[in-house]
Amino acid sequence: MQPIYILPEDSSRNTGRTAQKMNIAAGIAVAETVRTTLGPKGMDKMLVDSLGDIIITNDGVTILEEMQINHPAAKMLVEVSKTQDQEVGDGTTTAVVIAGELLKQAEQLLEKNIHPTIIVNGYRMASLKAQEILESLSEKIEINNKKILEKIAMTAMTGKSAEMAREKLAKILVEAIGSITESRDKTVFIDRESLKIEKKTGGKIDDSELIKGIIIDKERIHPDMPRIVENAKILLLDQALEAKETDTDTQIRITSPEQLQAFMEQEERALKKMVEDVLKTGANVIFCEKGIEDSIQYMLSRKGIFASRRVKRSDMEKLAKATAGKIVNKIEEAEQKDLGFAGIVEQKKIGGEEMTFVEKCKHPKSVTILLRGGTEHVIDEIERAVIDAAGDVISVIKDGGKIIAGGGSAEMELSKQLMKYSNTLSGREQMAIKSYAMAMEVIPRTLAENAGIDALDVLTSLKTRHDTKDGKDFGLNVFTGKTTDMKSIGIIEPLKIKTQAISGATEATIMILRIDDVIARGKESMQNQRGMNNQGMPPMDM
Ligand code: ADP
Ligand code: MG
Repeated sequence: MQPIYILPEDSSRNTGRTAQKMNIAAGIAVAETVRTTLGPKGMDKMLVDSLGDIIITNDGVTILEEMQINHPAAKMLVEVSKTQDQEVGDGTTTAVVIAGELLKQAEQLLEKNIHPTIIVNGYRMASLKAQEILESLSEKIEINNKKILEKIAMTAMTGKSAEMAREKLAKILVEAIGSITESRDKTVFIDRESLKIEKKTGGKIDDSELIKGIIIDKERIHPDMPRIVENAKILLLDQALEAKETDTDTQIRITSPEQLQAFMEQEERALKKMVEDVLKTGANVIFCEKGIEDSIQYMLSRKGIFASRRVKRSDMEKLAKATAGKIVNKIEEAEQKDLGFAGIVEQKKIGGEEMTFVEKCKHPKSVTILLRGGTEHVIDEIERAVIDAAGDVISVIKDGGKIIAGGGSAEMELSKQLMKYSNTLSGREQMAIKSYAMAMEVIPRTLAENAGIDALDVLTSLKTRHDTKDGKDFGLNVFTGKTTDMKSIGIIEPLKIKTQAISGATEATIMILRIDDVIARGKESMQNQRGMNNQGMPPMDM
């Protein structure tokens, strides 16, 4: 019989076991990359892009995003960390490492000729059970208990560049989040947008501070303008205060000096009118998203008005919220009621550069954390750690205060209880659930390995501890190398970190396991496809 070709010649295809093997290997490779960064003793990665820009980090999601992974199955693990980042903001390495280990265990089951469908079913059952177990392991704290929230923030920053000042940063962070937390009809509401993080190199991490208000990385545009304005009435403008640019292809033909004079006078009138429009509103501070012409700068400074130009859109929005002002598009339509209010607008020198502080705002629920640090790379990594910690604290508050012990204790207990659960089942899924249970040990094992501690010893000791009555919170203290009750040393995390990591990792693993055919089209056939589109054929989704 003649072979029949249904795919373009240059496409490649892998089916069955080959496809599975390849996908699993790719997934595991992704997990292996970030594995060495897990935990306080994890190492950092240096990422260099094509322009030579450098990032030094041990943040899982940052590493994976920057690596620009191309393999389709590997990308699914990158998605796991992205989802974790969006949903919680921390635990991105954990989620990927767990997914990698679930794949590794699955590979062994496939080697034993266990059908993927059975593995998938077993993994699903285990994942559901895991959620239940995690819930039962969690504890509820008072969401306004600052001391405990600070511990959560500190756990997230342990071992990161932020560590040196983690106590201070945790305090700042918890206070900042406290002031943006609102309760409405018994539900807490936190607008993450109300918390701004501003970085300035120079100084020590310890010099970082909390500003109840907003910092804009801009200065006033004219030296004669005041440095401080009290009782600031703020105009937020999304229009250039400049003479209108003529269209590029319009030409103005001026033939006589009188005409030129008239033209200039007309322009000056337009500019003066703009200043009048500003004055009419009663504003004494202007934040303008666009440019402000020199002559207008001068006129405004004469009137004692503080003005900044080319302010970022995101900053304009934050200013609008904090000062309860409205961003105005046309200056001639600006009215007094559009103005925002702040008790003080002041230009201050930070790290040798001028910045504008907008404080005592009408809406006090806008805060800025000003991070300081030696170099740009250091400060960027501190920011990532602070953002992770913020995610954790916010997640605990939103989740009604549910926390769980860290240091691999929760995963160890999960492993134990899932093993027990598998023994209550008789079906073929039992083996898959056992594998799932074993996979959970990857977290304490990796924490130990990364700290240069004998992992086998740690796991044996933890198993013994978890078999005792009060052993459920025992994990590894990577600084002493001893197994300890993690809650007693304040290593606590949001419950959500674990539930999300488990469900995200399981979903991705299942998706990868269910694939038995990978068809990749070659460049040529893709181009043909485009050609067809040009002739009015419907586009095909890939
Ligand atoms: P992720 O991206 O998953 O958040 P991290 O590098 O932040 O990865 O490491 C988080 C892990 O480190 C968690 O399992 C957490 O419980 C653990 N951890 C934090 N502090 C300690 C500590 N002092 N001893 C042991 N484990 C810790
Ligand atoms: Mg973390």
